[in-house]
Amino acid sequence: MRDDCIFCRIAAGQIPAATLYEDEDFRVILDLGPASRGHALILPKEHYANLCELDETVAAKVLPLAARLGKAMTAALGCDGFNLVQNNGEAAGQTVMHFHVHIIPRYQNGPKIVAWEQGELSEQDKKQIVEAVKAEL
Ligand code: AMP
Ligand code: ZN
Repeated sequence: MRDDCIFCRIAAGQIPAATLYEDEDFRVILDLGPASRGHALILPKEHYANLCELDETVAAKVLPLAARLGKAMTAALGCDGFNLVQNNGEAAGQTVMHFHVHIIPRYQNGPKIVAWEQGELSEQDKKQIVEAVKAEL
């Protein structure tokens, strides 16, 4: 746990947050600046800066927990779907450098939240990207 990390302090219960769920590994809280009603954050109690640093045992528990939360939100809030968003690095929009997963409930006719303009994948790029990434795995 890092004293200079706000999510470490929230996860440890040192800073109050609206907690939806807690166990030995995680605290799930409501986001203070919600994209939609019920927007929540899954915070591991241990400090990991991002997905690439996340312990694999902890990582294995994240998706089942997100599914549980998503199901509960659907039942409790009447959302029609939900997005999982997980930002890594400033360029990707990460503002708090403690791994977290956003669970964003989506409502029929609600605003577009996770959307991008579709580009095109050229044959040349396709080949180059596949080769370059495979070589790093
Ligand atoms: P990200 O941009 O993926 O790093 O997301 C950080 C999220 O944390 C944003 O959606 C903020 O609204 C949220 N946030 C920042 N500080 C707090 C806090 N003290 N309690 C709840 N949510 C927070
Ligand atoms: Zn932290």
